[in-house]
Amino acid sequence: MVHRSNDLVLCPETYLKECYDQEKFKPALLSFKSKLQASLQEKQNSSDISGNYPSITFLGTGSCIPNKTRNTSGILLSLSFDKNLIMDCGEGTYGQIIRLFGLTKSDEILRKLSAVYVSHLHADHHIGFIRLLLARRKAFHRAGIYNVPKLILLAPFKIMAYLSSYHANFEPILNDFTITGNQKLLTDGLKLDQESYDDLCSQLDMKRIDMTFVIHCPNSFGVAWTHKDGWKVAYSGDTMPCSGLVDIGQNCDLLIHEATMEDDLEEDAKIKTHCTTSQAIQVGRDMNARYILLTHFSQRYAKVPLLEDLPAQVGIAFDNMTVCFKDLATLHHMYEALVAMFAEDYDDMLEKTAKKRAARERLKQQAKVEGEVQ
Ligand SMILES: [Zn+2]
Repeated sequence: MVHRSNDLVLCPETYLKECYDQEKFKPALLSFKSKLQASLQEKQNSSDISGNYPSITFLGTGSCIPNKTRNTSGILLSLSFDKNLIMDCGEGTYGQIIRLFGLTKSDEILRKLSAVYVSHLHADHHIGFIRLLLARRKAFHRAGIYNVPKLILLAPFKIMAYLSSYHANFEPILNDFTITGNQKLLTDGLKLDQESYDDLCSQLDMKRIDMTFVIHCPNSFGVAWTHKDGWKVAYSGDTMPCSGLVDIGQNCDLLIHEATMEDDLEEDAKIKTHCTTSQAIQVGRDMNARYILLTHFSQRYAKVPLLEDLPAQVGIAFDNMTVCFKDLATLHHMYEALVAMFAEDYDDMLEKTAKKRAARERLKQQAKVEGEVQ
C-alpha cells in the first residue's frame, strides 16, 4: 500500500527484517542474549550497585550535525523519581524527548527538570536550550501551574549574549532560568561563596559539583556530579585527553566520555581537539572509573563506531538508550550484535580505514625517498 498522506508512518517490521537479513545478525543476537542472561544471573548473586536511579538516557550521541541515527549532544540524567538534569542540549533535544517518551511523559520529565548543564558553546551542544526552556514552561502551564520554578542553567557565561539577544528580539525567556557560569564552579578556583555553592548543590541533591577546564575550544568544561546518595558521574563534554578531567572524575561510578574518532585518526582527533576511542578509555582508566560510556561519535560512524575491541567496563551510547548502573556491566556484550546488524556499514568503514592507512604509508615512503635523494 502506498502512503500519500504527510503523516509519519513507522514500520518497525521493515527495520527488523533489514537486521535479520544480515547473515551474522541472528547468531550474534542469540549469543548476546545468552551472555546477558548469564550476567543478570551473576548480578543477582552479588551486591552490585542496583536501583533505578540514576538513569541515563542518551538523546543525542553524534558530533557536529544531526543525522537519522545520531542527534547532536544531549544526555538526560534522572537523579531520582522527581529530579532530572540535562547535560548538553544540542538542536532537537526536546524533539528527541518527545519521540522517545510521548507528550504526557515528556511533560512530566520537563516539570521535573531542575537544571541544564552546557559544557561549551559549540552549537551542537547548546542550540536546543531555548526550545527546551519554552517547552518546559508549557509543560507546567498544561498542568495548571503558572508560577513556573526557575530552571538552573550551568553554562559558560558567554551564552548570555545569545540568550539575552533572543529575549530582546523575539520573546521573553530570561525569567525562566537562573544562570551560574561554569567558570565560577571550577574545583581549583571556586568563585562562589560557600553558602551559594552549598545551596546550588542542595537544590540538585548533590554532595559536590566539580568542574574543570578541558582541552577543546575556549571555555570548554568537564563536570563531575557527586550525589548525596554517594554515586558519582563524570562527563567530558568535548575534549582531548585531559588531566583536569582525570582529577575531578577520580573513582567515579560512570564516566561519559566523547570518543569522536577511531584510533586510526589520532592526528585528525588532535587537530579537531577531540579524543579517539582508546584515548577516551584510557582517561577512564586513569581516573579509576568503574564504567565508561563512549559518546559523541563523528557522523562517519553514525551506525556503529569502529573499535579494535571493547573492554568489559566500556559501553557505546546510542540515541534513545536508557541505562541504570546495574545495566552497565552488560553493555560491552552488545558490540558484536551491533556490528552484525550494521555489517555493511561496518565493512565500508573498515575498507575506508584500510585505504587511509595505505595512502598514509605511500606518503611516508615518498617522503623517505625524497629525503634520501636530498
Ligand atoms: Zn565542540
